[in-house]
Amino acid sequence: MSRLAGKTALITGAASGIGRATALRFMAEGANVVAADIAEDGGRAADNFLPLRLDVTNEDEWRAAIAAAEKRFGRLDILVNNAGMGVPKPIVELGLDEWRRVTAVNLDGVFLGIKHAVPAMRRAGGGAIVNVSSMLAHVATLNASAYCAAKAAVALLTKAAALEMAAAGDAIRVNSIHPGYVETPLLQSRLDADPARREALVGLTPAGRLGTPEEIAAAIVYLASDESRFMTGSGLTIDGGYTAR
Ligand code: NAD
Repeated sequence: MSRLAGKTALITGAASGIGRATALRFMAEGANVVAADIAEDGGRAADNFLPLRLDVTNEDEWRAAIAAAEKRFGRLDILVNNAGMGVPKPIVELGLDEWRRVTAVNLDGVFLGIKHAVPAMRRAGGGAIVNVSSMLAHVATLNASAYCAAKAAVALLTKAAALEMAAAGDAIRVNSIHPGYVETPLLQSRLDADPARREALVGLTPAGRLGTPEEIAAAIVYLASDESRFMTGSGLTIDGGYTAR
């Protein structure tokens, strides 16, 4: 298990769910991990682990986070833009401030991450960026307009960034992943409010169950590692078959 040996990764939204599982898996694969989150308790610092407070919508905090990663580990090779959130409301009830917050975290945060990580990756001689979008970039669901719009934008932002990196001759790849419904605190908060919804989501998933954060982390390891070196500008859907019908 050393598919990421010698690499340094910054993961946003690393205090919970998919981000947390990815941080743990990356360390098991030999990476140094900068675990960035708006939540205060990101874990305790260790030899190969640096927890950091970062609000992905704040450009100054991005500058500081990249500098902290390079200072601590000497380089930055991987960025996982994973932080995300939603406000489950129908469009006619969604405030403009709520729309802006959802698009700021899920879309602006990805833009800022790419913008500020790329110079550091150029200094490191290359890198890999993995943007955590959603299958809801491809199909919509009720009461998730801003989330769906932002995640769809991330899919095309990924392709636009991949073209720019390739045109500049950078050895920096940019790909997105599109999870289906995954058992995390984000989903759990929705299911707690409506227990029948779990059964409904399982029923809509051909695999007959929800996904686990570890199953998504495994795909992120692949996209972050040199094993996927011919992949850039692509999106990988991991949804138990949800979007196959
Ligand atoms: P989660 O709520 O368990 O974790 C999200 C983390 O992001 C939290 O630790 C939170 O503090 C952090 N965060 C929120 N806003 C932030 C900000 N402004 N700056 C920095 N950190 C911030 O959620 P999750 O389910 O693990 O989601 C991770 C990613 O996967 C998100 O982008 C989400 O949209 C996406 N996703 C989740 C599912 C699912 O079913 N759980 C499905 C598809 C996509």
